[in-house]
Amino acid sequence: MAYFRTLCAMILKNETTGMSNRLEIDCSHGKGIACMICCHQLKSPIPVGFIENSSDPDDLQGWCYACEYLYQTEGERTEKFKKFNDARLVCEKCYERYKSLHWTE
Ligand SMILES: [Zn+2]
Ligand SMILES: [Zn+2]
Repeated sequence: MAYFRTLCAMILKNETTGMSNRLEIDCSHGKGIACMICCHQLKSPIPVGFIENSSDPDDLQGWCYACEYLYQTEGERTEKFKKFNDARLVCEKCYERYKSLHWTE
């Protein structure tokens, strides 16, 4: 029921803002599009790798090499993976910043 209510609130919000798939987030930069990165990328001051999981600009997701390794081992987004990944929402500006910090060739 709580989930359903959250979903309704999201749909209503999208209708009023006229943004279909986008989820907005309040950041220090102001309002931005919500993107997901893993907790390791959020916390680590040194590069931990950056694997991008979506090419959809409205649904950006990234995680580090350790998360990718576990994902490959688990085969899917299991509970164990979700716990390890511990995805955090950031705005698209932060996402780009973390991406350039953690991206390694
Ligand atoms: Zn990670
Ligand atoms: Zn931001």
